Amino acid sequence: MKISFHTLGCKLNQAETEELKKDLVQRGFSVVLFGAHEDVAVVRACGVTVDASQTTREMIRRAKRRGAYVIAVGCLENKDLPEIDFVARGNEEVVSHCEARRGAVGCVLASLGREASAMPLRRHKALRTHPTARLRNDRTRTLIKIQTGCNFNCAYCIIPSFRGRTRSVPSEAVIKKIKEAEKDGYKEAVLTGVNICQYKDSSHPPFVPPSGSGGDLAELLKKILRETKIERIRLGSLDPRLISEKLIKLFLPPFYSPLKKGGQNRLMPHWHLSLQSGSDTMLKRMRRGYNAKQYLGIVQKLRQANPLFSFTTDIIVGFPGETEKEFTETCAFVKKMSAQDGPAFGGGFAKIHVFPFSPRPGTAAAKMPNQVQDKIKTERVKKLLKISKAEAKKFAAKFTGKTRPVLFEQKKSGYFAGYTPEFVRVRVKSKQTLQNKIKEIKI
Ligand code: SF4
Repeated sequence: MKISFHTLGCKLNQAETEELKKDLVQRGFSVVLFGAHEDVAVVRACGVTVDASQTTREMIRRAKRRGAYVIAVGCLENKDLPEIDFVARGNEEVVSHCEARRGAVGCVLASLGREASAMPLRRHKALRTHPTARLRNDRTRTLIKIQTGCNFNCAYCIIPSFRGRTRSVPSEAVIKKIKEAEKDGYKEAVLTGVNICQYKDSSHPPFVPPSGSGGDLAELLKKILRETKIERIRLGSLDPRLISEKLIKLFLPPFYSPLKKGGQNRLMPHWHLSLQSGSDTMLKRMRRGYNAKQYLGIVQKLRQANPLFSFTTDIIVGFPGETEKEFTETCAFVKKMSAQDGPAFGGGFAKIHVFPFSPRPGTAAAKMPNQVQDKIKTERVKKLLKISKAEAKKFAAKFTGKTRPVLFEQKKSGYFAGYTPEFVRVRVKSKQTLQNKIKEIKI
């Protein structure tokens, strides 16, 4: 039976799809590209914005028009769409439903005297060639899900209503997944979840309640360092209100030795530390639970020990009630980031994802007064992007002349492209293949 996948949204959704593909391939299902005459199409939904919800619906409709049996899973808003044949709550349910479906089809075919397992479900298309999708198109970086759900209630966010309260993957299962990735040839594991800072380990599979008293994210990292050999470990998006001293210490000397050979340097000095606004009044209205000073405090600790430590972030522009003064505070904050490693260096955020606020029905922010006009949002996005570009350029310039280990991915337009530990993209011309190799490169 041929199965295709379409995944919308965040890294967590992508990680869940990769796990599902792997599981189904092991059970003998054949994974094809979405739209390549699949028998079953699995659409992993995203409902984080109104646009994402619409795209999800469109993908479901497209698959149905092709005649596929459609399974929807993930952050799905319109569970009652007539085009959906089955709504699954999670990967386990998709797997058992696919198995049952194959079983049912097999019974029908067997009753016709056919060999069920060799029989394509859609016989009329059996003679066409189907590009079989590989599990990943590279073997460089893999996403490892460690957690889902969230106990917070940020004013603009709908995710907790889709994913519920936080639940964590037991550390043993995380270690197992990383060891499998190592065997598959991956060099880098990216730990992902809805809010990985809420990680709590426990020995009760598959998930633990938020009250679980097990180890936190820092403990999990130590365990991964002790029990696996994967060369690079990168963290997914981090929440400033939950950054512990214990976590920071893992990225500081003497535990961490960013440039010296032989030192512990498998933890990548790159944090996607979600900011959302540089204005304290805005952060309060967004219910973010931290202020600009606290955020800067985290940056200072890491940057002063390692000026190359890289920060990327998200900022929402035009949140309800955002005044010109509050927006200016955000711009000033972004510039202030440059000064955190001494005037000799410069360069603040390595990258900022700037989002114009879009009201998501079902959230507190959608009902707030003083919604900002679209025209003002567009102007502010433009202004912030300009600052962000300049800052990113300054940050990248810090690397000129330095030698950094680069993990190379695919070759494109004659160049091998890869990333330094700080997630700076480097391109190199080489006659030898560099794919999935870590090489010291003078930038
Ligand atoms: S921390 Fe806030 S933004 Fe992130 S998932 Fe939880 S509620 Fe949403």
